[in-house]
Amino acid sequence: MEEEKKIQLKKLVKELESYRGRKTELISYYLPPNYDINSAIAQISAEIATARNIKSDTTRNNVIDALERVANALRNVGKVGKNGLVIFSGNVGKGKDEFKVWVIEPPEPLNLKIYRCDNQFLVEPLKELLKEKEVFGLIVLDSKEVTIGILRGKNIEVIYNDESNVPSKTVKGGWSQQRYKRIREQALEEWLKEIGEKASQIFLQNDAKGILIGGPGPIKEEFVKNEYLDYRLRDKIIAVKDVGYTNEYGLQELVNRSEEELSKTEVVREKIILKKFFEAISKLQNNVVYSVAEVLKYLEIGALEELIISEDFNFGKIRLLCKSCGNVREEENFLDKIDKKCNVCGKEMEIEDFNNYFDKILETAKKYNTKVYIVSSQTSEGQQFLSFGGIGGFSRFKLD
Ligand SMILES: [Zn+2]
Repeated sequence: MEEEKKIQLKKLVKELESYRGRKTELISYYLPPNYDINSAIAQISAEIATARNIKSDTTRNNVIDALERVANALRNVGKVGKNGLVIFSGNVGKGKDEFKVWVIEPPEPLNLKIYRCDNQFLVEPLKELLKEKEVFGLIVLDSKEVTIGILRGKNIEVIYNDESNVPSKTVKGGWSQQRYKRIREQALEEWLKEIGEKASQIFLQNDAKGILIGGPGPIKEEFVKNEYLDYRLRDKIIAVKDVGYTNEYGLQELVNRSEEELSKTEVVREKIILKKFFEAISKLQNNVVYSVAEVLKYLEIGALEELIISEDFNFGKIRLLCKSCGNVREEENFLDKIDKKCNVCGKEMEIEDFNNYFDKILETAKKYNTKVYIVSSQTSEGQQFLSFGGIGGFSRFKLD
């Protein structure tokens, strides 16, 4: 969307939001792309007929007047364009009558068919359209060429393209095999370093939420493995894909092949944080915290920087009742790990009450500005995390 159009629309949405009808008399009308204008006019005529039954004189007149303006606007426009059409109409005057009508062609396709008569305009669909789209960084590379781009919503923007001087694998006459190999390796490293610097600069500038990397051969894996990207970006790589090209078409292909990853940006965010968590554990990083007791210890004094909690987290205070002997037992535990055997008579006890600590934990995190990641157990990482207790995090500093 062009920046100027966007700003104009933002202003208009703000204006529309500020209006209130005296009664339900403000019309919002959304038509999907290429909708038949005559059907739309017929619908509005039907609404006018219905409006004649409104009891209050002023409301009836205001609604009919507003609808007639909608019908006129439809006739003037003549046809609905490829992005659809939105019309707002009504008496927005405060105190005195002031009828206004707005005809908007959305800057992007808006596939909605809504008729609304209310005391305010329905602007949410437009606001949704204006929302900042998530940005992903794209690189396609091999030893010969690189193209770097940005994916914004569904739009791919090519930002950088370059060709390398890395010599091909075949030895040129007169060169010793080994010397040639060394020269090639040096040139390749130089090339990947350049790509890493350029891409890092672009992705950081654009605040990329995730990074997709593609290419026809093993160079892309080498690029990922040897960490040529800025350290702030390394755990944002969400897909590494084989693609046939290293030009603009390659970027398109990369996006097409990463559809699954991209459609699950939530899932991607989960994977990223969980990957970071499990890596920290395997590397014995000293800022990683796990187990309920440890996490609570850090959390409750504000020493936890980031909290990860599974939406299926099931630790809390459990109250058990033995229906045979009347024994009551209370303990803090995982709901699925509790031993239900009665410690008095040996029969199975029933769970009478369970106070999940989930909400309490989130409240505490909020109090200390701990960044919270709630993860699902839909992914294999999420499952693994749940079996790990479903709670973990990173501390601001190490406690003894
Ligand atoms: Zn018992």
